[in-house]
Amino acid sequence: MLYQRSSALFDEAQKYIPGGVNSPVRAFKSVGGVPVFMKSAKGAYMTDADDKVYIDYINSWGPAILGHTHPEVLAAIQKQAEKGFSFGTPTELETEIAKLIVENVPNIDQIRMVSSGTEACMSAIRLARGYTGRDKIIKFEGCYHGHSDSFLIKAGSGAATFGNPNSPGVTAGTAKDTLLARYNDFEQVEDLFRLNQGEIAAVIIEPVAGNMGCVLPENNFLQKLRTICDENKTLLIFDEVMTGFRLAFGGAQEIFNVKADLVTYGKVIGGGMPVGAFAGRNEIMDALAPKGAVYQAGTLSGNPLAMRAGLTTLELIKNDPDFYPRINKAAETLDFEIGKILNSKNIPHRINRKGSMMSVFFHVNSVSNFDEAAMANHSLFNNFFHQLLANGIYLPPSGYETWFISNAIQEKEIDKTLEVIRKFEYS
Ligand SMILES: *Cc1c(COP(=O)(O)O)cnc(C)c1O
Repeated sequence: MLYQRSSALFDEAQKYIPGGVNSPVRAFKSVGGVPVFMKSAKGAYMTDADDKVYIDYINSWGPAILGHTHPEVLAAIQKQAEKGFSFGTPTELETEIAKLIVENVPNIDQIRMVSSGTEACMSAIRLARGYTGRDKIIKFEGCYHGHSDSFLIKAGSGAATFGNPNSPGVTAGTAKDTLLARYNDFEQVEDLFRLNQGEIAAVIIEPVAGNMGCVLPENNFLQKLRTICDENKTLLIFDEVMTGFRLAFGGAQEIFNVKADLVTYGKVIGGGMPVGAFAGRNEIMDALAPKGAVYQAGTLSGNPLAMRAGLTTLELIKNDPDFYPRINKAAETLDFEIGKILNSKNIPHRINRKGSMMSVFFHVNSVSNFDEAAMANHSLFNNFFHQLLANGIYLPPSGYETWFISNAIQEKEIDKTLEVIRKFEYS
């Protein structure tokens, strides 16, 4: 029987861990069924508790861009571990990775390391507020910036321009400082600036959204945000936790040629270890403690094991001139061939893709914001997901997530994936 041991492990986990998981999406609530418990991963493949092998299109939600357990990253971690894995003091390694990033990413002078993307975004917002002396922020529906209170906000009703808490435990007081706009809807952004003149500290955006499925910025949306932020002395924050070092070494700033005031990182930057970071120009970053007054700290920030994994991963990417063309080409092939197969089956769909990030929406129309992503046929996605899973293809367990193509996914894996999709039966 499929997933037999996973099923037993999930029952046991639920006794001791809320919902049996340490992060909600892993519970398969959206697609139904039992979450698959993995026990090892190597290259393009993961092996579950029942010894079933899968081609992995999640790659730890992005970090495993080289594929799993890359031998050089593994060796670097092992070597570092022998020297010590947490000092709580500065290390040379932290400057090494900071220098590599600052010198190769446009428009940033300094970078501060933290331990997760959540922490990075939360800290960037505090810094933006401290630097501008303003309280309000604008975020976009469907964008995810981690689980800190300011971001767990949904649209207000009726005439209200401020947000409402999207989770119990988030106070109305916090919610009133987060304003929401539709992704790709610049008129809404203009309205919010008009109604809150001189009060908006920052606009934060996923420059390519990946947390409502993959949704691309349209009609110079990012450029327009840059302009309106400049006009209002508001900081523009690119949340590049997903796109950073994935779309290009310089992330979305490089791809779209739009400068952000602050940039947040996570996922790829840690090479599979818990790392986040935020970065910006000197004048803004100097406002951070200990130099400036905006407080931010972390016992395990810049942790040597994590820095070593991140640095080795980034160096491998940077020293391979064909890296991005290759993963983008693999994703392009999947995009094109999956489209052909679904067309031949007369299954309405839209594939959104930027570089090695992509999503298949079962929808007749284009998907350019959260409302449109929600209109897609999610029960058909769930069916698709389960048929692929049973045949050894591991997709993100929700129609609102992005597939991440790693460098380990090559012709053989693509062929196998397409072969399974050809057998997909619409039901
Ligand atoms: C994953 C993600 C985060 C949160 O990062 P964590 O490490 O899970 O806290 C924030 N922003 C974006 C765009 C993400 O994709």
